[in-house]
Amino acid sequence: MKAPSLAIDVHHALTSELRDRIVENVRTRIQEQSYRLLSPEHLRGLAQLDTGGPPIVSLYLQLTPERRSGRAWHSAFSALTHTLSQTMDRAGRTAAEADIQEIKRALIDQLPELGRGAAFFACRERGIWHQIALPIPLPDRIHVASRPYLRPLLRSWGRSDRMLLALLSREQSRFLISHLGSVEEIYRVGGQRIRGMLTDRIPRDRRDALANKLLKAEAKALASIAEMIGREFETSHLLLCAPPDMSAAFRDHLSKLSLTRLLPFETSIHASPAEVGAAAAPMQEQIRARAERELVDRLSEAAPAAVSAGTQETLDCLCEGRVLILIADDSYVARGSHCRHCQGLFEATQLSSCPICGGAELETVDDLVEAALQQALERNAQITFVRDPAARSAIAAPLRALLRY
Ligand SMILES: [Zn+2]
Repeated sequence: MKAPSLAIDVHHALTSELRDRIVENVRTRIQEQSYRLLSPEHLRGLAQLDTGGPPIVSLYLQLTPERRSGRAWHSAFSALTHTLSQTMDRAGRTAAEADIQEIKRALIDQLPELGRGAAFFACRERGIWHQIALPIPLPDRIHVASRPYLRPLLRSWGRSDRMLLALLSREQSRFLISHLGSVEEIYRVGGQRIRGMLTDRIPRDRRDALANKLLKAEAKALASIAEMIGREFETSHLLLCAPPDMSAAFRDHLSKLSLTRLLPFETSIHASPAEVGAAAAPMQEQIRARAERELVDRLSEAAPAAVSAGTQETLDCLCEGRVLILIADDSYVARGSHCRHCQGLFEATQLSSCPICGGAELETVDDLVEAALQQALERNAQITFVRDPAARSAIAAPLRALLRY
């Protein structure tokens, strides 16, 4: 699918109506039903889904090149859905069966062009249907419950994992979003036809002044669009590829915050999204590694009251809505408990009553990290994974947090 585009020139200034239309276009693009990368807003919506009864089928299927050729994915799909008959009773299976068939039809119709796999969340009874292209290979998995199984997605949701790539030139400018190695073009802006406007009848010195004025107006509009797209996708950084004069004019109109997150990179203005992604990858890897180191420093330098010390304290703070940034050791896997009454999460699995509210409505959660991530999303906390071994040992507990208060 082609990215929406528009032209900004002397005849099409960036008015507030046009600004609204761009935001509208970007949001529509995010919400398209076919295979799309996931926006933070979309993920928060998924995290809030709870049918309270009818099952949601969550299905993750890897789509390696081997599986894509012919219909090799069929047998993996069958094997996966077959595991349900061993783990579920007949009534549950029957309820899920219609949704599974629907997912299969969607895959037969069209495999996602993008990405290394696909995820589905379906419950026809409640009109729930989401299909998502996965930028990284996640293990095959099927899960049937009243809430969607989101951990694999949440895991790919670190703070420095989404970046805005801006390619600017006189003829056209392009905005792309990269998410864990997958790149999608979001917007394209046609440049000004400066040459045609600046005829020889205009004296050279005036021509230069006019060209300069046009460049500045365009850079201002492009900076404004970059800010809008960055906000919608909650990108952590802005990677910029532009000729020096455009780059300078563009920077002049960026917010202070965006300027601190801006880094240059080199690619061709005509490069495919995959080529742009490859050109940006080394810089992104550096950014991620540096972000982990900075986070570790922030943790160790913060006042004791501004951070949580251990895993259980982090879970307590999370439940109270005090967590600003949840920091998770990416390799950590453990079971835990969840209180249905106060939503408390606990490392302990053998609790007879809730340590917070005293209630007895406790359930075991298979994956404490997933439950914590889900809660972080609901409470608008940021999520950061620590993957580097040195950084992992430096954070000293699998779950830590920087606190709001
Ligand atoms: Zn409780």
